[in-house]
Amino acid sequence: MDAISYERATDVSAAIKAAQQPGAAFIGGGTNLLDLMKGGVARPLKLVDITHINSLGSVTPLPDGGLRIGALVRNSDAANHAWIRGRYPLLSQAFLAGASAQLRNMATVGGNLMQRTRCYYFYDTGFSQCNKRAPGSGCAALEGNNRIHAILGASEQCIATNPSDMSVALAALDAVVRVNGPQGERAIPFAEFHRLPGDHPEVDTTLKSGELITSVDLPPPLFADHSHYLKVRDRASYAFALVSVAAALQMDGDTVKTARVALGGVAHKPWRATATEQMLVGNPLSHDTLQRAAALAVRDAKGYRENRFKIELAQRAIVRAVSTAGGVA
Ligand code: SF4
Repeated sequence: MDAISYERATDVSAAIKAAQQPGAAFIGGGTNLLDLMKGGVARPLKLVDITHINSLGSVTPLPDGGLRIGALVRNSDAANHAWIRGRYPLLSQAFLAGASAQLRNMATVGGNLMQRTRCYYFYDTGFSQCNKRAPGSGCAALEGNNRIHAILGASEQCIATNPSDMSVALAALDAVVRVNGPQGERAIPFAEFHRLPGDHPEVDTTLKSGELITSVDLPPPLFADHSHYLKVRDRASYAFALVSVAAALQMDGDTVKTARVALGGVAHKPWRATATEQMLVGNPLSHDTLQRAAALAVRDAKGYRENRFKIELAQRAIVRAVSTAGGVA
């Protein structure tokens, strides 16, 4: 058994300072990290407990009309917060689609951003090949069980997917992740927060060493009237997405004025379907437009032995989610 030291921080500066040593990790709700530690996948030498930093635990309005969600806000509290439900129903729906009620009660917004892939081989240390867990060892999923794996943006090093529902909605909403670290504060546009695997699948995000997520900032709400989060999964609850779609529209009568479409369950990061968005803008939500827009989202998709069905599934899910968002379903 590994020895692990523990330090409880009560403000952001103290947390950053406490984490400035090799092998340190921040712990919030612990719903993913503790599982990884029990399985021997994560082996931190020190845990810095951030759950007593009160400044990270609230939802506050921003001067521009947006909303700041503290990194320690629990997923269940965020899902049911009146401002989020009313102004960003897409995000509320995505929160409620994730995990189970018990897990949502523990899991934090910051932790949700940091949760790791659910690739079977990543969690099972009995398999020696996993570039994400052991860089340079290979990828067992390429020729193995890859039903839940990526069809977009994958590399020959890793075809894992990001499991977060919340992050798919945040991608569609153009959220900003605020962080603080040894070099000070910075804001990361959501599209730049998670990485594609490339040659370094062991690195999930663009966070720098020792940086702590402090909040997620939402721009002013534009899509409260026309949005929908659709999650397709093997069970009705407590299952990760095979494919999910966050669709958000601004409508001008029957015509799409602004479109945001993000996909989950298909890539190493939440996947913005920008070509789909461009096809939708300026058009009514006709059957033909929806079909062609959905096809654009997967034009570069690559299926593997067990997950080729996702290419068709993603298109159908886009059509349904966008139709529902636009009120034409
Ligand atoms: Fe590991 Fe990624 Fe391959 Fe899964 S897909 S076995 S996480 S390298």
